[in-house]
Parts: sequence; structure tokens; C-alpha cells
Amino acid sequence: MHYGKEGIEMDFKVGVIAGDGIGPEVTAEATKVLDAIGQKYGHTFHYTEILMGGCSIDATGVPLTDEAIAAAKASDAVLMGSIGGNTTTSPWYKLPPNLRPEAGLLKIRKELNLFANLRPAYLYEELKAACPLRDDIIGDGFDMMIMRELTGGLYFGERSTKEVDGVMTACDSLTYNENEIRRIAIRGFDIAMKRRKKVTSVDKANVLDSSRLWRKVVEEVAKDYPEVSYEHMLVDNCAMQLVKNPAQFDVILTENMFGDILSDEASMVTGSIGMLSSASLNETKFGLYEPSGGSAPDIAGMGIANPIATILSAAMMLRYSFDLDKEADAVEAAVKQVLKEGYRTGDIMPQSGESTEGITKVGTAEMGSLIAERV
Ligand code: NAD
Repeated sequence: MHYGKEGIEMDFKVGVIAGDGIGPEVTAEATKVLDAIGQKYGHTFHYTEILMGGCSIDATGVPLTDEAIAAAKASDAVLMGSIGGNTTTSPWYKLPPNLRPEAGLLKIRKELNLFANLRPAYLYEELKAACPLRDDIIGDGFDMMIMRELTGGLYFGERSTKEVDGVMTACDSLTYNENEIRRIAIRGFDIAMKRRKKVTSVDKANVLDSSRLWRKVVEEVAKDYPEVSYEHMLVDNCAMQLVKNPAQFDVILTENMFGDILSDEASMVTGSIGMLSSASLNETKFGLYEPSGGSAPDIAGMGIANPIATILSAAMMLRYSFDLDKEADAVEAAVKQVLKEGYRTGDIMPQSGESTEGITKVGTAEMGSLIAERV
């Protein structure tokens, strides 16, 4: 580790999982932007390539090796493109499920104990037309962060399917202990402190015991954050409010399954999948940062993928793993600037019937360079 004059760390070890499909193309643009940040602010990012997904299957026979896990653990943070191929035609999907590309992703999340998933939903003024909501609902736009618990709850509880009294019966259990709730709540309030200082904790406390415990623990944690205002909201109401008045939200804090559904809903109201970043964090400063979309095999290798989601994921890495808020702001401002100047990749071009005046279509590498030049 090497520290600068103000005690700010200057050197960072970044593991890069380029992955499959468009992954290598978009991660190359994100490291280009990180290097521009490094030059401007005096940091050095040391990259280690880590194999995961289909490319790892081809090279080693498994989607994630022990060496790859060790390399990820030795990094300060990991930046990922995406993994996987065409699920109907790729030979990777003829393998047993535990050897397919996605098994690598589940394994790395577990190995690194990534229990907190963050997905921002931000509406860019320039991309308002892609938002399916009415203008009067969009208003001045919205900017929220969905904070989803990722390693507990219904998706990890005991499950069974068996015949009971001659009738096939399936059961999934939703379990949370107070420690699991506390650690995600602390993360949520910490992140609210870096934002507009509001937390909406989402549960179903009128029905579920797990939600009642969730609510109690969130209230205890809230006492340590007097500057943050917080409220509880039932999940069914939250699903409605997201399309009725999205601007009311800053940080939405919720359990695994509610977060799975609400984060997809929130991201769809922003428009394009090529703009959506995400982070998965553990109890330390470590995080795995990746675009929300997949490997887009239909456009892989064509140089037309939108790298912005990956570049914004790198900005999240600067903010949440490296505490470099100023540098993260610079990346986000550069993205806004290129959009303002009219540069678009194919996926965010105006739809038919909309004006293309002042709009320039660019490819993946050009978009990355334009952003790097503006940080
Ligand atoms: P996808 O997100 O890859 O693609 C859906 C559509 O969005 C495609 O038309 C694609 O071209 C487009 N798209 C996605 N990202 C884009 C970008 N950056 N720029 C422009 N267009 C973009 O979803 P899919 O087709 O369902 O999945 C493809 C593969 O990705 C599968 O193997 C799936 O398992 C995998 N996947 C991986 C992750 C991950 O690595 N975390 C996440 C989701 C899906």
C-alpha cells in the first residue's frame, strides 16, 4: 500500500474479470476511464486478470478455479464484465449446472461473502424519452439506490417438494437472523450518509415474522444515524410508489426476494440496460462491481456494446471500496457530459419518431475514450 500526501491511498489492486461476450469489450473501456482518473488524481490501479465463466471453462474445465478465487481475494476490489453465452446454442450449457458459466458467479459471491447488493436507478435528463413513465410523474427525474440483501432469505432457506396426504406439496422457507439484518441495515444507512440521507426500509411486516424482525433491527440501527431520516414501507405499496412517485426514494433497503423484484422494476423505469451499474459488497471495503446486464452474445465482438454501465460500476468501486468520492463524481459527471454532447451507443439512440438532431452514434471504444477524455 502506498499513501499520498493527505493520507489518501494512491495504489489499488483491481481484479478484472472480463468474462464472456461483450465483457472484455466493456471492461477495457472501464479500465481506460480508471487510468484517466489515475492520471488526473495521482492514483495507480494495478490490474490482475481473473478467469471466470465460459472462458474459464474453455481454459481450465471449470467456471471458477481456486486460483481465481485467491486472486479475487488478494485484490482490493473486483471489476467484472459479464459471463455466459447463448444459453441455447453454446456448448457451455450442455454441461451439468455446477459446471456452467453462472456457477462461477454464484461461487464467487459465496466465497467472498457478498451479502449487500446495490443497484442505482438514475434517470438521465438526456435519456428521459426511454423512461416508460409519464412526464408529469418523471418531473425533475429520480435518483435512488436499491440495497438488497443477497445471501439470506427465501433463496437460501430450506426447501422441499413432497407428497403430503396424497397431494404434491412444495415448501420454501424464509429465514433471517438479526445479525444478517443488522449488517445490511448498517450498510444501507452508511450509503445513505453518502447520499441524500433517507432510508426507506421495505418489508411485509403486516404478515411475515421475518419482516417484523427486519423492522425491529432496522429501528435499532437507525438510532446510530440521527442524520438519516427513515421510514418503513410495505413491499406492495413500494412496488406501486416506484411507478407513481419514484423521486421520493433515496436508499431502498430490503431483503433478498423483495429486492430482486423491486430492483428490476426500478431499473426498467430508467430505460436502457446498457446504463445500469451494480455493486455487491461484503463486511470489509471489498466489492464486486459489474453492469446489471448480461454478456449480450448477440452483439459480442461487434464493438457496439454500451460500456457506460461498466464505467459507472467502476465509479461505484471508487466510491464504495476506495472512498474516492471526488474521483467517482468526476466519472459520473463525464458520463453526463458525453450524453449532453449527444453521443450515444446504438442501444440508447433515439427511438423512431424522436429527433436525432445533435446526436452522434458511436461504438464501444469511442464512447469509452470520450468519457476518459472528460474526467
Ligand atoms: P443480456 O443482458 O446479455 O442481453 C439482453 C439484451 O440486452 C440483448 O439484446 C443485448 O444485446 C442487450 N444488451 C445487454 N447489455 C448491453 C450493453 N451493454 N449494450 C448494448 N446492449 C446490451 O441478457 P440475456 O441475453 O438474457 O443473457 C445473455 C447471457 O448473459 C446468458 O448466458 C446469461 O446467463 C448471462 N448473464 C450474465 C449475467 C452476469 O454476468 N452477471 C447477468 C445476466 C445474464
